Amino acid sequence: MKVRCGSCRTEFDVPGAGRFPCPVCGSVNVVRESPSSREAPAPAAEVGGYQTAPGVGPSAVGAPPPPPPPPQPDLPMPKIECPECGFKFIVGMVPVVTCPMCSTEVDTGIEEDSGE
Ligand SMILES: [Zn+2]
Ligand SMILES: [Zn+2]
Repeated sequence: MKVRCGSCRTEFDVPGAGRFPCPVCGSVNVVRESPSSREAPAPAAEVGGYQTAPGVGPSAVGAPPPPPPPPQPDLPMPKIECPECGFKFIVGMVPVVTCPMCSTEVDTGIEEDSGE
């Protein structure tokens, strides 16, 4: 079968698959057995692409991880509704509050831990 040298494009005859040096330039050509006789210039060396550095994962090259969200002073604030005027307002941790609308003292149901 005929092969073509990958370096100098010289065609030369080889008995079959194997590695044969070019009679002209001496480059070793790897010949594969192929059913078709059409020319299929195989790449001499697959060089291309950058290899990732060892130890660096593929996920480490992306965007940096987002910073943790700041702690929100989002304490559960008790909210009550004034039984007199219906005004809803947030109260503190106190058992009784005064409604800002009608000045009614409203029992929040919160037991103040005042100690004994
Ligand atoms: Zn050659
Ligand atoms: Zn009120």
